[in-house]
Parts: sequence; structure tokens; C-alpha cells
Amino acid sequence: MINFEYMRASDVADAVQKIAGGAGAKFIAGGTNLIDLMKENVEKPSRLIDISRLPLDKVEEIPNGGVKIGALVPNSDLAYHPLIEKRYPLLASAILAGASAQLRNMASTGGNLLQRTRCAYFYDVATPCNKREPGSGCSAIEGLNRMHAIFGTSDQCIAVHPSDMCVALAVLDAKVHVASAGGERVISFAEFHRLPGDEPQKDTNLKAGEIITAVELPADGFAHNYSYLKIRDRLSYAFALVSVAAALVLDGDKIMEACFALGGVAHKPWRHRAAEESLRGQAANAENFKRAADLVVKEAKGFPHNTFKIDLARRAIVRALSQAARGTPQIQAIKKVR
Ligand SMILES: Cc1cc2nc3c(=O)[nH]c(=O)nc-3n(C[C@H](O)[C@H](O)[C@H](O)COP(=O)(O)OP(=O)(O)OC[C@H]3O[C@@H](n4cnc5c(N)ncnc54)[C@H](O)[C@@H]3O)c2cc1C
Ligand code: SF4
Repeated sequence: MINFEYMRASDVADAVQKIAGGAGAKFIAGGTNLIDLMKENVEKPSRLIDISRLPLDKVEEIPNGGVKIGALVPNSDLAYHPLIEKRYPLLASAILAGASAQLRNMASTGGNLLQRTRCAYFYDVATPCNKREPGSGCSAIEGLNRMHAIFGTSDQCIAVHPSDMCVALAVLDAKVHVASAGGERVISFAEFHRLPGDEPQKDTNLKAGEIITAVELPADGFAHNYSYLKIRDRLSYAFALVSVAAALVLDGDKIMEACFALGGVAHKPWRHRAAEESLRGQAANAENFKRAADLVVKEAKGFPHNTFKIDLARRAIVRALSQAARGTPQIQAIKKVR
């Protein structure tokens, strides 16, 4: 058990002041990831700043027609919020495909973005891991890498980002609002998470001392033609082997706009803009979806235990886009549990 200081922030200004004053300080929101990592001695904060009671718990429409989600809105409240169910059902489906009802009740919007990889070596402090201990090596490259990345890997790290919610946020081109003692800024979702490169210890482009205050959604939520397809070892309570968030704007059978992102395959939600663009103006059929999927997987690189993900990703893209085109999304019938 490590010793750490615990304090509660009264507002955002207080939170950023408290974090600026403590090297090794961390925010804690729902605690569903951070506490696990502390129990395993992976995270060893000297100070925990509890932000769970900050007034960042609203989902509200904003003047540009979009929606702003407070960083402390629990995942379950977000998925079942009437505005999200009606205007952004892709986001609701992705959230409900993740974790369990109890975890979703605790997990916050900001914490979901910042949850860390589930690579088993990252959790096992007896093994080398460049993400946990830079320069120590990557145990997964030559080890058990069935769950690992096939896109955007480096010779330092092949971990994947585990979030489902983030895959939908990538397709929606969300924006992340952050604040620090130095002021506020907005980060586009595409720029928020990083590829491992030679600094795999950095998951995101958040700077030291910054707090996520909100996630902003644009006005258009692709509410008619969407699907979130998650392929995993068990039907529930398991992380994705491959997931696809797909969204289309159709004019009859013609594709006016296509957006899709993959989860479980890279250090960040994986989009391929050229593949999306290739669908514009085409008929919404399996043949065209296969062509787009081939463009994506052409760039994949498998490791000894995960090459199966390449064909799985190709087929999952085709299926998710086909479901989106037909207006028959992959839906889990999940009732609200409180
Ligand atoms: C058994 C299990 C199964 C799971 N399955 C899935 C799954 O299938 N799909 C999925 O997507 N997720 C899954 N999760 C992960 C879960 O969604 C995350 O643990 C959760 O979203 C994290 O949110 P939190 O509020 O609890 O974060 P915390 O644990 O409180 O914090 C996580 C990190 O974010 C930082 N942080 C939190 N809020 C802020 C903020 N506002 N600003 C700056 N920093 C902040 C903390 O300092 C910490 O580093 C699973 C978790 C468990 C334990
Ligand atoms: S894949 Fe990344 S997280 Fe996993 S052992 Fe290698 S460096 Fe660590």
C-alpha cells in the first residue's frame, strides 16, 4: 500500500490549482480504472484530487446546434439521456457495449477518455513495459499479443486503447474542452489520443495540469444510419477484439457521407479518411463497402497471435456499414440498472 494524500476540489479553478501544486498528483473521478491501477502498483500518485463532485454533470444543447457533455456525466446517464438517445444513438450504443451496468454508473465521461490500456504486461509490474516504465522494453511484441494492435504500432509499444465510447466520439468528430491554471483550450478528437511512437507512456496530448471539463458533439449525430458493432470473446463484459462505429448519410441508395472508426486495433480509435472518401457518391452496397474495407486493412500489420484481427476488421467494417445502410443497427437491449 502506498501512502497518498487525498483532497476534494470545490470547483474547476480549485482542481487545477491543486494539481499544479503537487508533483505526482492525479485527478480521480469514478475511480474505476485508477483505483485498479493503484492496487496493482502501476499508478502511484502522491496526491489524489477528487473531482467527482464538481458541477460538470450536465448534458446540454449549445447555440451552434451541438451538445456539450460535462466531464463528470456518468457513462450510463449519458447513454440513456434523451438528447443522446435521439440525436446520437451511435454514441449511446457504443457506451452500452462497454463494461457492465455497475461500472457504467460510476465511470465518467472524462475518465473514459483517459482510461489506460488493458495490455496484461502493463498491469504486471514484474514484466518489462515501455508504457509503464519507459526504456524497459515491450513484453507484448514477442509475447501474448492476441488482443494487441494491428495499426499504428511502433517498436516500442503495440497496445490498444480500450474504450468503446471513444470510437463513436471519433466518428462524431467530437471536441474535448480542457482547462488548466494557464487557461482553457479545445482539442479535436482526432488530436486527443496519440500513437505510441517512441513515447508510449503518453496516451494523449493532454498537458500536465490540464483537466477535461467537457466533450462537445457537433449538430449532426448521424441518427438515421449508424451502427456500433463490437466483436469480443464474450457477449458482455469484455473488451473489443475489433469494433466498428459506422455512420452514413444517404440519399436513397447513394452515399453522401461515410464515416467509420475501428476500436481494439490501435493506440487510438482508427479512422481512414481515404477509405471514407472512397465511398462518397457510391451506391451503399456490400461490394463498395468491401472495397473501402480493403483500403483500410491494406495498412494493417499483424503480430504472431493477432493476425486474425486483419480479416476480422475487414469483415466487421463491411457488416457495420451494411447495418448502418439498412438502418438496422447492432443494438444490445440493455435496460437501465440503478
Ligand atoms: C472490469 C472492467 C471492464 C471494463 N470494460 C470496458 C469496456 O468493455 N469498454 C470500455 O470502454 N471501458 C471498459 N471499462 C473501463 C471503464 O469504462 C473506465 O474504467 C471508465 O470509463 C473510467 O472512468 P472513471 O471516471 O472511473 O475514471 P478514473 O478511474 O477516475 O480515472 C481514469 C483516469 O482519468 C483521469 N481523469 C478522470 N477524469 C478526469 C478529468 N475530468 N480530467 C483529467 N483527468 C481525468 C484520472 O486521473 C485517471 O488517470 C472497464 C473497466 C473495468 C474495471
Ligand atoms: S504493448 Fe505497450 S503496454 Fe503492452 S507491454 Fe508493450 S509497451 Fe507495455
